[in-house]
Amino acid sequence: MAIFNTDSYLRASFSSWREANQTVDCLIQRHASNLSHVAARAKNIQYQMASIFPLMDALCSRTCPWCPDSCCTGAKVWIDFSDVLFIHLTGQPVPRTQVIPHMKDVCHYLEPKGCTLPRMSRPWVCTRYLCPTQMASLRRESGRVQEAFNRSLQTIRVERKEMEDAFVWVTSPSTLSDVIPASDVIPAKAGIHR
Ligand code: SF4
Ligand code: SF4
Repeated sequence: MAIFNTDSYLRASFSSWREANQTVDCLIQRHASNLSHVAARAKNIQYQMASIFPLMDALCSRTCPWCPDSCCTGAKVWIDFSDVLFIHLTGQPVPRTQVIPHMKDVCHYLEPKGCTLPRMSRPWVCTRYLCPTQMASLRRESGRVQEAFNRSLQTIRVERKEMEDAFVWVTSPSTLSDVIPASDVIPAKAGIHR
């Protein structure tokens, strides 16, 4: 997993992007039997994301068509490691390239009518970002709507971190089960629990 210790790898080149996705796919298949709890976290993230999309769509439709200075034009964002994991663990369409392979580029997925990536395949930072105009629009929603929205954002933030940590732990070559064969592990004595 050393190559994924930095997101710069994912931002490098088309071949790196493709290789990174192939590697994640391969690791998921190889460790499938130990990744069910990681996949469950990804599913929960998907569920939480789906719950906020209607509000995000509403905020966008109220503000973006009249925006004089689209945030996507100048955005320096990329699909990070948690995004890649989420995409593969939940079977989302894999974007054909990193969104901005080079910092001087404009996002590959920006077209005149907006973003062409499905929301589930976008960088999470693109979904959670609310510009000042949208923040003002959100504040006009009921307290209940705002609280539910903030709760979902917080849950997604925590779950993404835990999904990534758990994936790295399971697939890391230094994980105990990879280093010490199960037959060599001395079972804990009955009655002793950690
Ligand atoms: S999110 Fe805000 S800044 Fe970005 S395009 Fe929409 S209105 Fe403009
Ligand atoms: S991926 Fe979509 S939302 Fe994100 S910067 Fe590109 S066009 Fe904008």
